[in-house]
Amino acid sequence: MNRPLTGELQALDRAHHLHPFTDFKALGEEGSRIITHAEGVYIHDSEGRRILDGMAGLWCVNLGYGRQELVDAATEQMRQLPYYNNFFKTTHEPAVRLAEKLCQLAPDSINRVFFTGSGSEANDTVLRMVRRYWALKDKPHRQIVIARENAYHGSTVAGMSLGGMAPMHAQGGPCVPGIEHIRQPYWFGEGRFGEGRGQSPETFGQACAQALEDKIRELGEDNVAAFIAEPVQGAGGAIIPPESYWPAIKAVLAKYDILLVIDEVICGFGRLGEWFGSQHYALEPDLMPIAKGLSSGYLPIGGVLVGDRVAETLVEEGGEFFHGFTYSGHPTCAAVALKNLELMEQEGVVARVRDELGPYLARRWAELGDHPLVGEARSLGLIGALELVADKSSGERFDKALAAGNLCRDLSFEKGLVMRSVGDTMIISPPLVITREQIDELVALARQALDDTARRLGKPIDS
Ligand code: PMP
Repeated sequence: MNRPLTGELQALDRAHHLHPFTDFKALGEEGSRIITHAEGVYIHDSEGRRILDGMAGLWCVNLGYGRQELVDAATEQMRQLPYYNNFFKTTHEPAVRLAEKLCQLAPDSINRVFFTGSGSEANDTVLRMVRRYWALKDKPHRQIVIARENAYHGSTVAGMSLGGMAPMHAQGGPCVPGIEHIRQPYWFGEGRFGEGRGQSPETFGQACAQALEDKIRELGEDNVAAFIAEPVQGAGGAIIPPESYWPAIKAVLAKYDILLVIDEVICGFGRLGEWFGSQHYALEPDLMPIAKGLSSGYLPIGGVLVGDRVAETLVEEGGEFFHGFTYSGHPTCAAVALKNLELMEQEGVVARVRDELGPYLARRWAELGDHPLVGEARSLGLIGALELVADKSSGERFDKALAAGNLCRDLSFEKGLVMRSVGDTMIISPPLVITREQIDELVALARQALDDTARRLGKPIDS
């Protein structure tokens, strides 16, 4: 794309386009980047740069860019039946086949799916479904959903209310009532350093589960409907819980008979080296919201996988569930998602993440832990994070005004790597089809970005 066209698009973008999660004024002053095309794990911008997409778009392009089979699946479906709904006793083959495939891949106790257009809609569906379930069980007082601080569950009103992001709650509230938040299992920030300073991961994980039990007691167990969490918290900062966390949480939920909702929007479809993050942690969720990697982001589609306990009640005793979206199970999106899952199966993508790429990334990524700016380098499967610190031994952070994370993100982009920043935590979540050589390239670029960041922050680099 030539430069004048870049300028024209930037001007039109500034004039007419309000971007998601963006300071509109600041972006207008800076001008946006224009992505023109992509292949494999690389995106290209209008300045002619090729950039390794370390975030798989927004944690979604699991099969990488440029898969002709997905284009063909969409084309064929659009020719045959571009759209029809599943309301009013109708259905169509793509939605049925996709539902069957998802239930095959999901944990054994899950045999039904409700489709949505996105992850946010999936979590809206979750909130309504768990409340409906308990109402049908003659326990209508079980209304409260417990979620976690700093969680992200979407941008619809229910999604942002379930999420635990304070800046989101502060805008456009009040939030949906009946949602409570407990602490997140963020060992680096709240166990090793921060308020729990010096706690072992094991003890810290137990303490986080204790916080759930304390909250249930405070609210009254008969008032709590469900607990919702991601296996590994993604947008909150790729927060990998200590090993003690999930077993202890499971025990608390079982003790009080509370539903478990595992948000698989990021961790689903191979990210942690299993089809679902729940399988990595041996969880048996009652509900699993999904989206993103379901279609590798080629078309928008989401859903809620519904476990037998909830589904049987909804089906047997429910009557009409007054809920659904125009694009629930959209045939073209469903056809692409099904093809995406078939390709992942045929190519053994998930096992490769578990057996080869995840362990390889873990080894290479951990090497960045020796950098003077890095307080912790962690990863699981193909999700990873770096904690930027001013002082490695005390874990002291940089002055917020320096915006070290954003600086590192921008310098990384300049070097040719998309890394995301959440505060001063740098995150990667690359396409699952990345090769070992491309992981080497990713790690080398990340190190260069860290070096550049250190220079800009006036920190000596001796590594
Ligand atoms: N849940 C999680 C865990 C997510 O990461 C996201 C999106 N980042 C959502 C829900 C919302 O999905 P969507 O943007 O498709 O609405």
